Parts: sequence; C-alpha cells; structure tokens
Amino acid sequence: MTAILGAGMSGLSAAFYALENPKLSSIVMLEASNRVGGWVRSKQEPDGTIFEQGPRTIRPIGASGKNTLELMEKLDLTSKIIPIKRSHPVVRCRLIYAENQLHLLPNTLKGIVKKNTLLNRSLLSVVWNDFWASKVIKEDESMYSFIERRFGQDVADKIISPVVCGIYAGDAREISIKSTMKFMFEAEQKYGSVIKGLVYENMLDNANKKAQKKKAELEAKNSIQSNVEPNIHTSLADRATTEMWSIWSIEGGLEQLPKTLADNITKRGVNIKMGHKCEELRFNKDHIELTVNGETDKYSNVVSSLPARCLADLVQKQHPELSKELRGIPTVTVGVVNLQFSENALPINAFGVLVPPKEEIPILGVIFDSCVVPQKSKTTVLTVMMGGVWFEKYFGKCPSEEHLLNVAVNQVREILHIEEDPMAFNVSILKDCIPQHIVGHMQRLTRIQNYISTHKIPLGLCGSSYQGVGLNDVILSAKEAVSDINSYAS
Ligand SMILES: Cc1cc2nc3c(=O)[nH]c(=O)nc-3n(C[C@H](O)[C@H](O)[C@H](O)COP(=O)(O)OP(=O)(O)OC[C@H]3O[C@@H](n4cnc5c(N)ncnc54)[C@H](O)[C@@H]3O)c2cc1C
Repeated sequence: MTAILGAGMSGLSAAFYALENPKLSSIVMLEASNRVGGWVRSKQEPDGTIFEQGPRTIRPIGASGKNTLELMEKLDLTSKIIPIKRSHPVVRCRLIYAENQLHLLPNTLKGIVKKNTLLNRSLLSVVWNDFWASKVIKEDESMYSFIERRFGQDVADKIISPVVCGIYAGDAREISIKSTMKFMFEAEQKYGSVIKGLVYENMLDNANKKAQKKKAELEAKNSIQSNVEPNIHTSLADRATTEMWSIWSIEGGLEQLPKTLADNITKRGVNIKMGHKCEELRFNKDHIELTVNGETDKYSNVVSSLPARCLADLVQKQHPELSKELRGIPTVTVGVVNLQFSENALPINAFGVLVPPKEEIPILGVIFDSCVVPQKSKTTVLTVMMGGVWFEKYFGKCPSEEHLLNVAVNQVREILHIEEDPMAFNVSILKDCIPQHIVGHMQRLTRIQNYISTHKIPLGLCGSSYQGVGLNDVILSAKEAVSDINSYAS
C-alpha cells in the first residue's frame, strides 16, 4: 500500500502519476484539513466574481510548464483554459511604486534605450554594468548581492527586491540566486557575465534545435525509429507556443484544477481521507509505520507532499538529523485581501504593482485581477498581498482581519487613488504558506537526498519546499518523486 501525505496540488499530482506506475498499488491519500487543493483556493461571490486567495495564473514555458499543460489535457480541462497572450496589453504593463509614484517597467526596445523614471538611467546602462563587472566564484549568494554586484544597487533595490516580494513574499537579501535564478548564477560562473551567458546559451540552443530538426528529417527520410525519449510536446503545449501565451488561468478559478484532479483519481480507486493528520513516520526493515490521528497503519511506500517543516515533525524521533535539515527550510505568512470595486475603478490597465521593501510600506503589491482575467460582473477586482517575511514587523503575531482590510483599502487609496469603498472583499491570513529557498538551499537539498538514499528510506519528496514554489514546479516534483521512489515493494 502506498501513502501520499497531503492533498494539495503536489499530493494530488503525485497520486495521479502514481496510478501510472505499476510498482505502486493501493494508493491512500491522507489530508489533515477537510478539503483538497492546499493553497489553491478560489472563492466565488454571488455575482460570479472570483476571489483567488492563492495562485491565479500559470506560466506555459519550460519543461514544467509543458508538463502542467499535458496534465490539463489528460484531465479534459483544455476548454476551460483562459490563455493570456504576450500581445495582451497587461502583459507588458507591470508597475513599481517607489518615491510616491507609479513607474512603468521598460517594455519596448525604445524603453530599454531611454532613461527610465524608476532607475533614472537606461536599461542599456544596466546591461553595460554586467559586461564589465568582474566574475566572482561562489557556492551560492543572495539574489540581492548578486544583482547589486553585476547590475547595480538601484536594480537590486528597485526591481529585483520587489519581484522577489511578488514571487516569494521574501527578502532578496536572503533568497538564493542559485535556487531561484539558476541560469543567471551559472551564466556568471561559466561565461563571466549574465548577458554573455544568455547570448551564448541562446546561440547554442538554436544550433541544437537546428541539429535536432536535421536529424529528425533524416530519420523520417530513412524511416528510422528513434529510441530517444521525445521532449514533452503536447498539442496544448504546441498551441501555447504557437499562440505565444504568456500565462494562463482557468474559467471558474484555479481551484478547478485540484478539484478535477481529485475527482479523477478518486474514480480510479485512490482513497482520499480528509481530516487525517499525519503524526509520525517510522521506517522499518520491510515496512513503514504511519501514525494518523493516534492510529498506526503499515505501508510499503510513502510520498510526502507536506511542507518540509511539517514532515520534520513526523521523522523527528527516528531521524533527528533529517528532521533538522527539513526544519531549516523556513516559511513566511502572507495576508491576502481581495477587493471588488465598480467598473473601471483603476487609473491604468496593468498586470499589477509591486512595492520595493525599501519604501517601508506595509504591502508587497497589488494584482489587478480583472485586467488580467475580466470578471463576469464587469467589476474591478484587485488582490493586495501583504506581510511575507515582514508579516510580524507590520502586523504583529495575531492581527485581526479587519486591520488587514483597513491597511489594504488605505494603501489602494494612496497608491491607486481609488477613493470608493469596496463593494465586496475577502481577507485571508495564509500561515506559513510560502517556503523560502534561502542561500544554501541547493546544498541542503543535496544533504537531504543523500541522507534518504544512504539510509535507504523509501520516501519520495515533492511540493513547494524543495525544487521551486510555483504550481508547475510542484506538479513536476510530484511526477519525479513518484518515478524515483525506491520502493520496498520493488
Ligand atoms: C498567496 C499565494 C499566491 C501564489 N500565486 C501563485 C501563482 O500565481 N502561480 C503559481 O504557479 N504559484 C503560485 N503560488 C504557489 C502555489 O500555490 C504553491 O506552490 C502550491 O499551491 C503548493 O502546493 P503543495 O501541494 O506543494 O503544498 P500545499 O498547498 O501546502 O499542500 C500541502 C497539503 O498538506 C496538508 N498537510 C499539512 N500537514 C499535514 C499533516 N501533518 N498531515 C496531513 N496533511 C497535512 C495541508 O493541509 C495541505 O493540503 C502562490 C502561493 C501563495 C500562497
């Protein structure tokens, strides 16, 4: 019997992929709460407006982006996809609020050459900095320090720090460049410059693509069947490439994905047990003991999709060293305030605005949801993200929802000049929702994996604590965890 711990997006995906693995039988999922989906939550208002409390859009690019689109196809959700193409006006319109005004991030060639209001210099001079900055050999470094060294302190403060707030709700001075922007880190180590690295890698990529195309043509001509596993090329992924999607969402909200996934796996025999909080894991010679709600059952394999700090509690007694490493992956709490205003309440049609932490304003940013995905109600819907690594600094340990709402409404008034009161709102405090991949994260992951393989523990790990915090990352991590599992049963 295989146990999958947690029924968020990674746990549900793990069950889906486990059904494709003949080594894994009788799948049971154990979820502490009374719902599936984890942080993916879409709340529908009576007028049809969707308030997304967690994720709202997904990127189609890269192997992980294509893998998610393949999953959407397998779940028959293709017709529900809302693609947001690169030509969409909001895609290029991203704002930063600094020194009491909104600044547009340069988005055209002209904008790159011209001096911009945010940095008071052109992006071309930023690129110039990178060409001349000397290479420093490092094991890892914070995003802030890397960007400051290569592009300048203004870029680290006014562009990278707010972007890190937007993705990790974290501090660029703590987040690891090697874990989160590996291509930049490697470009410096390999080519001595990020821009040179991008140019060379792009040239190599194009040459590889040409060579692959030639090989495929030759094989087709000679009717040779290739033994090489092809890249994932689903028709949906191809469509996303051809139509130049930038991001995509789902009709009725992103929660449609975990709900459909749960229905699919349940129909195929997976037993999802809600209200089942895992308390302890013990690995024996030929079986695993899992204690849930005070009762212990035996399993042959376990895949954990729990946040690392939760898994740390489960293995603490038997594997304190592993537990300590897992606990070393911190998390932050985010306040999410969804606000609904009348039609056309915003002064500008954009993706949203991010606030550099240096501004010392108690919000991370505002997403202009209704500009990205228009609502049935035709109203203006915004989401204010707050707190993250600075949650306690601005709001203390246990702020009231009313306090968060007031801060959000006041900041929207101040920054976006929306004077009216919201017609509807929703406040959620998402405790410990985003793991922080801090400096040294990759080395920590290697130590965790080495510990698991040295001790021959049949435990697969997936979820946002490890390889990446986006939905694409956690879905792909689930696929890999299930295929890698070193089963007692095998
Ligand atoms: C505010 C916010 C906005 C985001 N926006 C985006 C976005 O726009 N695009 C994007 O790609 N990603 C986004 N993300 C990231 C994305 O939501 C996460 O990566 C993803 O939801 C994580 O899924 P998971 O399954 O790894 O973890 P979780 O969702 O945390 O699931 C873990 C599950 O385990 C359960 N659990 C915990 N402890 C136990 C226990 N002891 N026993 C049993 N069950 C337990 C929990 O109840 C939960 O259901 C966002 C995240 C947040 C918080």
